[in-house]
Amino acid sequence: MHILITGAAGFLGSSLANRLVREGHTVRGLDDLSTGDPSLLSPDVHFTRGDVNDRPKLWSLLQDIDCVYHLAARVVVPESVLYPREYNLVNVGGTVSLMEAMRDVGVRRVVFVSSGAVYGDQQQQPVREDALPDPRSPYAVSKLAAEFYVKTIGALWGIETLCLRVFNAYGPGQHIPPVHAPVVMAFLRQALNNGTLVIHGDGGQTRDYVYVDDVVNAMLAASTAPEVNQMTINVGSGRETSVRDLAAMVVSVTGADPEVVYNPRSDRGSSRLCADISLAGDKLNFKPSISLETGLRLTLERDSRLRVRNGK
Ligand code: NAD
Repeated sequence: MHILITGAAGFLGSSLANRLVREGHTVRGLDDLSTGDPSLLSPDVHFTRGDVNDRPKLWSLLQDIDCVYHLAARVVVPESVLYPREYNLVNVGGTVSLMEAMRDVGVRRVVFVSSGAVYGDQQQQPVREDALPDPRSPYAVSKLAAEFYVKTIGALWGIETLCLRVFNAYGPGQHIPPVHAPVVMAFLRQALNNGTLVIHGDGGQTRDYVYVDDVVNAMLAASTAPEVNQMTINVGSGRETSVRDLAAMVVSVTGADPEVVYNPRSDRGSSRLCADISLAGDKLNFKPSISLETGLRLTLERDSRLRVRNGK
């Protein structure tokens, strides 16, 4: 197949792109490199630097494409609280630009990578796709708004659409911003530096951590799965892990001896989030195979940034 990935030089985009070229597909990648790193990409990926709002560029990249994976986005939740306009421009505006260009060029399918963040706090766990979304940040709002645009424009113009709500993905190559790093990478980095793992509140808050290779399996299946048009499907591990247990696992896997501190003053309540993945099993034949402990070990082994810190 001929595939375009937006956000191709990012964590999930590059993992997907490299897997697709290994499987013999022709892959074009678009990324503005605001956080992405093109060195993550196999030389077989045809990479173009550019903005997802650049419609002429989208037009030329979309020629002869069978399926688009749309991942380009700003992804740091606390940053979205400070800069909601920017998040709207890229995450919502960029999606609308892409859908318009797909309509004009005539592309068959788009797989939009949305987020479990759209659910916010839910009583019922694990959370199913029919739960009423309750976005709690401009980032989450932008992903939900983008889902609606994808589905609505897709339905109006005959473009097949599939939205994947990915939960807390982690693994080698994940972008580590100087502040507000994703918790798995932040803990690994801190542990290897013999630094401090800071747990907000009592650490009872839970998330669903899913290893990048499992996410890539789901994304791969999404390009050809039958009878998924207009659907929204969760992609997670289906397992709920507290931040306290995550910290303990990081300590055990790294063999380090970091200080683990609880900060009651930054207690954000004990929210829970875990994916019900039965729909992904039915529609995408999805079965996550990497446990959190194995995923943490693989991340340590495969992420050279962590090896340097580990002194190996
Ligand atoms: P990432 O930051 O590594 O990837 C996003 C990529 O988009 C980056 O390479 C960035 O340079 C690029 N980008 C940003 N603005 C752009 C623009 N205007 N034009 C073109 N490219 C642009 O993050 P990621 O974790 O790989 O996330 C990829 C997608 O998956 C995002 O849409 C994100 O919302 C979604 N997602 C990720 C997770 C996760 O846990 N990693 C969970 C749920 C959803």
